[in-house]
Amino acid sequence: MMAKTKLLIAGIVKESVVDGPGIRYVIFVQGCKHHCFNCHNPATWSFDGGTLLDEATIIKEINENPLLSGVTISGGDPFFQKEALLRVIKLIKEATKKEIIVYTGFTVEALLADDDPLVAELFRYIDILIDGPYRHELRDLSLKFIGSSNQRIINLKTELGKYQKK
Ligand code: SF4
Repeated sequence: MMAKTKLLIAGIVKESVVDGPGIRYVIFVQGCKHHCFNCHNPATWSFDGGTLLDEATIIKEINENPLLSGVTISGGDPFFQKEALLRVIKLIKEATKKEIIVYTGFTVEALLADDDPLVAELFRYIDILIDGPYRHELRDLSLKFIGSSNQRIINLKTELGKYQKK
């Protein structure tokens, strides 16, 4: 039961400048089934490894660091743990009011395709979604915050309507 509500993570970086604008608190989620060729972090693929996120500690650390512009959840792919992700994101939003960026190897279209109420709820709390798998043939080192040019930085507050079915 616990594993469903607690987020399984690979690690935390308390101050990062490469996972979104400004200085960010980054949670790297454990587990990813996309298995992109030349993935930057294949150690995060397994769902057997990792540790469970200690929510009280991260909230405290985020609130105690005035330099942070926001929180980023990367991976692995957080969308393989949607229930736990929603719980954590709600908690972070309510307790810190920080901007939340989430990386995923799914495209936004694929996430919306099933009309999953969990996805709809997640999209209410996530500010920016960085979507799509890493595609090595589209690798571009000049791009900020993404690895390959198919990936998109989507502001869910202003741009979600573009991707929703009419
Ligand atoms: S989605 Fe990310 S973590 Fe998963 S295989 Fe692709 S690059 Fe690696």
